[in-house]
Amino acid sequence: MLRGLFTTFKEMLTPKVTIQYPEQKRPVRERFKGRHELKRYDNGLEKCIGCALCAAACPSNAIFVESSENTDEERYSPGERYASTYEINMLRCIFCGFCEDACPTEAIVLEKDYELSYTDRAEAILTKDKLIVKVPAGGSPTPQKTEPGVFTRSVPQMKDPTD
Ligand code: SF4
Ligand code: SF4
Repeated sequence: MLRGLFTTFKEMLTPKVTIQYPEQKRPVRERFKGRHELKRYDNGLEKCIGCALCAAACPSNAIFVESSENTDEERYSPGERYASTYEINMLRCIFCGFCEDACPTEAIVLEKDYELSYTDRAEAILTKDKLIVKVPAGGSPTPQKTEPGVFTRSVPQMKDPTD
C-alpha cells in the first residue's frame, strides 16, 4: 500500500502529459492531411477550373464536379470553365491526397482542420460554398467582370516546372 501511495505522490509532482482538448490544441504535423479547401488567386478568382481530374483520381469516388462556361462578363476562374458544382462526400474520403496531387492548378488542398463530425449524412457532403476560402484582402468576389483576352489560360504559366 505504501509503495502504491508513493507512486501516486511521485506522479503528482511530475509534469502533466495530457492536453486539455478542446480548450488546448496541439499543432498538427507539417504533412498532416485534414479537411479540404478550394483556393483562390490573390485577385479573388477561383483556382478551380472544373476539369474534374480530382474526381477521376479519387479512389473512393468521393468528389463530384460539374463545370460551366466562364465569360468576361461573369468570370469565376481563369480560362474557359469553372466548377459550378463541387462536392466532396466526407463519409467516403480516406484522406489519401490523390485529388490534391491530380489538380493542375493547386486548387484543392487538404488543410489542417481535423474537427470533422456530422450529425447526418447530408451534412457530411461539403459543397463548394463550404470548401472555398474567403476572398483575400485586395481581391474581389466571384463572379468578376474582367478585361477581354486577359484570363485566357486555365493553368497558370510557371517560370520553373518544379514550382
Ligand atoms: S483525399 Fe483521397 S479519398 Fe479524399 S477526396 Fe481526395 S482523392 Fe478522394
Ligand atoms: S479542384 Fe483541381 S482537379 Fe478538381 S476540378 Fe478543380 S481544377 Fe480540376
